[in-house]
Amino acid sequence: MQNNSTTDSSSESASNNANVIVKHDVYSRDKHTVSRNDISSNAIKVLYRLHNAGYRACLVGGGVRDILLGFHPKDFDVATDASPEQVRDLFRNCRLIGRRFRLAHILFGREIIEVATFRGHHSDIKSEPDEVSSNKSAAHSTSDGRILRDNVFGSIEEDAIRRDFTVNALYYDIADFSVLDFCDGMEDLKNKLFRMIGDPETRYREDPVRMLRAVRLSIKLGLTIEEKTAEPIARLAPLLLDIPSARLWEESHKLLLSGHSANTFLGLEQHNLLQPLLPQMCEAIERNNNPNFRAFIQSALANTDARINNNKSLNPAFLYACFLWQSVQDCATENRDNGYSPAEAMQNAQAMVISKQVQSIAIPRRFTQVIREIWLMQYRLVSRRGKKLLSILDHPRFRAAYDFMLLRATIGEVQQDVADWWTDIQKLNSEQQKKMFRELHSQAPGRKKKKRRPKKNNPTTDANSDVEGNQ
Ligand code: ATP
Ligand code: MG
Repeated sequence: MQNNSTTDSSSESASNNANVIVKHDVYSRDKHTVSRNDISSNAIKVLYRLHNAGYRACLVGGGVRDILLGFHPKDFDVATDASPEQVRDLFRNCRLIGRRFRLAHILFGREIIEVATFRGHHSDIKSEPDEVSSNKSAAHSTSDGRILRDNVFGSIEEDAIRRDFTVNALYYDIADFSVLDFCDGMEDLKNKLFRMIGDPETRYREDPVRMLRAVRLSIKLGLTIEEKTAEPIARLAPLLLDIPSARLWEESHKLLLSGHSANTFLGLEQHNLLQPLLPQMCEAIERNNNPNFRAFIQSALANTDARINNNKSLNPAFLYACFLWQSVQDCATENRDNGYSPAEAMQNAQAMVISKQVQSIAIPRRFTQVIREIWLMQYRLVSRRGKKLLSILDHPRFRAAYDFMLLRATIGEVQQDVADWWTDIQKLNSEQQKKMFRELHSQAPGRKKKKRRPKKNNPTTDANSDVEGNQ
């Protein structure tokens, strides 16, 4: 540990585990920039209520880190020596959650302050302090080192070293407003370094999601991943295949909606992390049936970041519709080559691609439904056929499907005049819209009736005649 002259003291404390002796730096209030004004008033309330009840109470994690870097934290986490039950006894608006980590959530309307009891090391069950030892046999890991349950309580020192990255292990102590640093996180912040606590490979094996966090947080914070922390990631990336798909949905949500998704995508790609998350998309990029597909995804991500940074709403289904678009088209082409009608080929392709994707990322059904709607509407938007075409303007997913079509136009997959037609028609009243539609069809040359290819098989039961794979 460093002995930094800017710190007030460098204390040495033996934790409950005789093997762990942690020397730490204490930055008093005048030596750091964390002010109570930067902390949500609800988090302050929680910290003081714990403190006044005689417990140790610190703000920790992203909240402290982001304030030190001059960002606004998106949430506030509190760490304490009170057990979850003791926390619950102090707050009426508290609920205990989690199996992997047992936590208290204190609810203030839409804001949730997460309160976690200091945790010890999972292999160190004997080190539980008596007052919080309510959960013996609470730690559990797999033979390959992955931690499944981690409810062993411990001291603040132990809590610090079982966090993931040094900059995430800084504690703002409400007792004297100091920042406690057990892992040289302050020094790393100063040097703009993102560094794993302990041996990176072991820590990634314990929890492979830390690889995604390394990429996401380093990009969001503008820090460089330290060499030893970065090295194992590409090698260990396949460990993500063992992570429950529901957890990967939560995590991908953060990856995509951070406001830095375009750079995060490149970071994930660089470290081999895209493959386990979006295998079909990676295969489609490799197959290269459409050399513009990568550019299409990059534009989708850039648009997403712009929307988020302008506080506009965003449906994650849109991005997944983009990621999987080429796979759907390739699969539909194959189905047509096998003799399916265009509608059937597309329906089947959508079902196949989505069902494969949800094996790695559990996209909830309400979102997969939106993905399908966006894809389904493409044919109508591009062909502009059908008596009821204009009713599509009132469809709840029209806007998303239209935005999707605009993106396709940027890579030449849809003619720009078609995209412009839809842009223009939205500016008109309903009479003018009907007129514009009539004009389009009066100009259109007479349509020939298409011959249907003979069917080999019927892969779906609800084929939609509005769907076509190749537009
Ligand atoms: P942000 O909230 O900005 O995405 P964060 O670092 O605050 O980033 P959270 O998921 O809110 O992320 O976690 C809070 C803290 O919990 C982290 O700062 C870190 O100390 C600890 N933590 C979270 N996930 C892990 C993990 N997988 N392994 C070890 N510690 C973790
Ligand atoms: Mg956080």
